[in-house]
Amino acid sequence: MSRLIIVSNRVQKPGPDGAQGGLAVALSAALREHKGIWFGWSGESTDRFTGHIRMDEYDGVRTATVDLEEQDIDEYYNGYANRTLWPLFHYRMDLAEYVRSFGSGYERVNKRFAETMQPLVEPDDAVWVHDYHLIPLAWDLRRQGVKNRMGFFLHTPWPPTRLLVALPHHQRLVQSLFAYDVIGFQTAEWLESFRHYCEKEMGGTIDGDDITVGTRTIKAFACPIGIDYDEFLDAVNSDVAKEAEATMRASVQDSRALIIGVDRLDYSKGLEERFKGFERYLTEHPEMQTQVVMVQIAPPSRSEVKSYQEIRASLEAESGRINGRFAHVDWTPIRYVNKGYPRDKLAGIYRAAKVGLVTPLRDGMNLVAKEYVAAQDPKDPGVLILSRFAGAAQQLTEAILINPYADEEMADAIEQALTMPLEERQRRWKIMMHEIGETDVVWWRETYVNKLMQAHDVKNAEDKLLLDVPGE
Ligand code: UDP
Repeated sequence: MSRLIIVSNRVQKPGPDGAQGGLAVALSAALREHKGIWFGWSGESTDRFTGHIRMDEYDGVRTATVDLEEQDIDEYYNGYANRTLWPLFHYRMDLAEYVRSFGSGYERVNKRFAETMQPLVEPDDAVWVHDYHLIPLAWDLRRQGVKNRMGFFLHTPWPPTRLLVALPHHQRLVQSLFAYDVIGFQTAEWLESFRHYCEKEMGGTIDGDDITVGTRTIKAFACPIGIDYDEFLDAVNSDVAKEAEATMRASVQDSRALIIGVDRLDYSKGLEERFKGFERYLTEHPEMQTQVVMVQIAPPSRSEVKSYQEIRASLEAESGRINGRFAHVDWTPIRYVNKGYPRDKLAGIYRAAKVGLVTPLRDGMNLVAKEYVAAQDPKDPGVLILSRFAGAAQQLTEAILINPYADEEMADAIEQALTMPLEERQRRWKIMMHEIGETDVVWWRETYVNKLMQAHDVKNAEDKLLLDVPGE
């Protein structure tokens, strides 16, 4: 069996104490099966990049990590990845920053990754690269002479062509993707945007999964990521979850309805709009004031980036304003919590909530939506309110789907959710739960890895690079 080399920006070192996310668990399982290596940044900085690889192994999973220079971290990670591509890929042209040194830092780090990992790649290996940090990596590897099968998976949305062309050197970036053999997207919508770009901007042609530009043909397909279904159900049934559920219920005094939101603190998650929607609900339903509590868990992320500092400040102000407007001595409408919780605790918190409010303005998938559904009591399930603009909305069609920008729509959805009859809640829940089980993270990785393994080895790496990269 071929080995699998997984590459992602950050590598979470496996270990007994490491609370791994669902993705890390899934990829670790793939590595165990294929006896592979996980390569990426250690998260540490160094004075001078040496390309020294640190190898670790735990429970059958081998990791290979490198440290990056401060300048690399600033320009590649905080810069191009998180201040240019992330906002643009989430349709936020207003927040995308175009700074030349970010672009050159991004290309430098991708090249460094390629040069460093190239000696680890053996002839029959398949390479699976993750996410927007590493779009040009296959291009750099091909230039190092790597002929292996290579695949890319984008965890974020792919933006519409009209937005993407606002990125300086967008062609150079997209053309570099053609050094891969297969490319996976979360949804048919993002895939469609990618195909549109290839046709309109690159003169490409499409035949089934195949996209041909010049003499190069790649396979591009949608393959939505899921939760670790079995592991999550274990978490739901754990003592920690049961205790967290009981604590939550007691803290809202049982009779009050709990609405839960759980999101990394990120402008793409639509938290301001969510608070406004909840405010609208309280305004339109004064009889529900004191009867409903919204808990928003929002652990800070990317706090070095200014737009993240700004969203944090404005959410503090917004939750304070709404609480000031409606609170009573014995009731506060919004509990805004700026820290993260382990998943077993979250499972219990989700289960205590009558409504899961998941309203990103744009999201590649959104696993919280799936976790909320999976945590529910089948006998008395809560209701998921989900943004149409989350990738998950294409699968969870039995959620109450809303436009998160429209506060009236959100208020109506909250009312509908809180008054939905049990039978209807169960009907919707069953359909969604089935979908979540069918397309869990194990299905996702097996589907992707099968497609990758079916790709043919490149006979001549040079042949695979017939596209001229502009500006070379
Ligand atoms: N999460 C967590 N603790 C928290 C908040 C979030 O473990 O306090 C987890 C959550 O359970 C989910 C993941 O972080 O598995 C978030 O994934 P999602 O796809 O919803 O959003 P992302 O952060 O990847 O944009």
